[in-house]
Amino acid sequence: MTGQRNTQSLKSLYKRTDRVAFWDSLSTRVEVVVGLKIRHFELVTLEEALASTRHQMVERFSKHVNPEEAKIFRIGDWDKRWVKAEGIRVFDDHGMEYLDFLGGYGALSLGHNPKEVLEAVQQAAVLPLLVGTHPLVGALAENLHKILPGHPDVLSFGSGGAEAVEIALKTARAATGKKKLIHSDGSYHGVTFGTLSVGGVEKFSRCFGPLLPHCEKVAYGDLQALEAKLKEGNVAAYIAEPVQGETGMQCPPKGYLTGAEALCKKYETLLILDEIQTGFGRTGRMFAAEHEGVRPDIITVGKALTAGVIPMSASATSAKIWEKAYGTEDRFGLMNSTYGGNPIACGAALKAVEILIRDGLVEHARKMGEYALQKLQDLKAHHKVIREVRGLGLMLGIEFPNARTSSYIMSRMLNRHHIHLGRCEYRQEVLRFEPPLNVRKEEIDRAIEALDETCSKSTLGLVVGAGTTALGRILSPP
Ligand code: PLP
Repeated sequence: MTGQRNTQSLKSLYKRTDRVAFWDSLSTRVEVVVGLKIRHFELVTLEEALASTRHQMVERFSKHVNPEEAKIFRIGDWDKRWVKAEGIRVFDDHGMEYLDFLGGYGALSLGHNPKEVLEAVQQAAVLPLLVGTHPLVGALAENLHKILPGHPDVLSFGSGGAEAVEIALKTARAATGKKKLIHSDGSYHGVTFGTLSVGGVEKFSRCFGPLLPHCEKVAYGDLQALEAKLKEGNVAAYIAEPVQGETGMQCPPKGYLTGAEALCKKYETLLILDEIQTGFGRTGRMFAAEHEGVRPDIITVGKALTAGVIPMSASATSAKIWEKAYGTEDRFGLMNSTYGGNPIACGAALKAVEILIRDGLVEHARKMGEYALQKLQDLKAHHKVIREVRGLGLMLGIEFPNARTSSYIMSRMLNRHHIHLGRCEYRQEVLRFEPPLNVRKEEIDRAIEALDETCSKSTLGLVVGAGTTALGRILSPP
């Protein structure tokens, strides 16, 4: 009887299947032919994908990933077929070597394919995946507790940076019972609904509205404006980046973050520092908060947490705040995420942080950052086309008059000089200079020489002329 019932239900379940073979509940093998409809998928195998030509790669990206971006890549000749990489060096399919000064938007702290981190991933991969807890997640959380500013006790792990910010914002509301979230003009915290709601450039979120209510903006670096908002009351948190990366590597005035910390305390509002880009040595200190000795109530990290090898992020806070937000039976699982704290990501993060400290890369980044900033300032003195250079540590920006010029310079740097740069997301006229933290002086010199040539008088005419090219029009429509 049981077998018969199973056969009936499977027949209807597999209506569209060719042939179903299964074991019924009495362990008798039953085979049901439900029709002969063979569907054939011509799938690309991993081996074929790895062996793709540049043309195949571009075609597939253009058809199935992002048609518009593919156009821009093609016009700027940025769609190289990268075939291998090590450290700051990447190689194209003609065997040409390039230096990567984009560094995965600040994520590649140790450069490409760091051997020891990849080995750590393999070591961790012996553990079962996604079956409750494991020894690596607590160990990583303990290490981060030791090195993060203010020594936050509890860490909630996610995958992308935006996810960590979402956790931070929700934690603030859940812990304080207050509604408002204050953020800065020009801020960038990701592209999910919550993070766009505390994003400081409306142009990039307008088409997704309405966003979250009770999110309000203040001028970045203006303590009076911040106090005026906090005074109004009902503010769960003020969220800020210690250096605004996507808005052109903007540093706030000295003392701003300590001032913001004091104001948040005064008005019983939580301070969230978003260190997703600035964290893990990028600004020449382990965390940018350390430049002013700030201890945020909640801190978010991502990107270089695993040296850019595996997506991972975290939101960290004190036991007291965590307890208020989630310390009950019905709340402790409210920020769960399938991949949050998975063993492979934890293995990569444990090793990435270990290497950063063992190899003194934070101090190295500070020195290289000062060296590069000085060199860029010297360049600015010689080239009018450079409007400003700024930043902290190895998180530097070079501002040009407009996005057309910066895009042209980026193309020439890549195609003529083999130096890979990128633009800041919200201020495309600013090129980012964010190499891996283990960059060497000679490599910085090579990039600076290339920039010198690119910005020189002989090529300036071409740069200005780029405004009338197809690339110029696409990148910076009138
Ligand atoms: N916060 C900051 C400060 C960032 O720079 C970024 C990404 O650039 C994010 C959040 C979002 O991170 P993700 O792109 O991993 O979601």
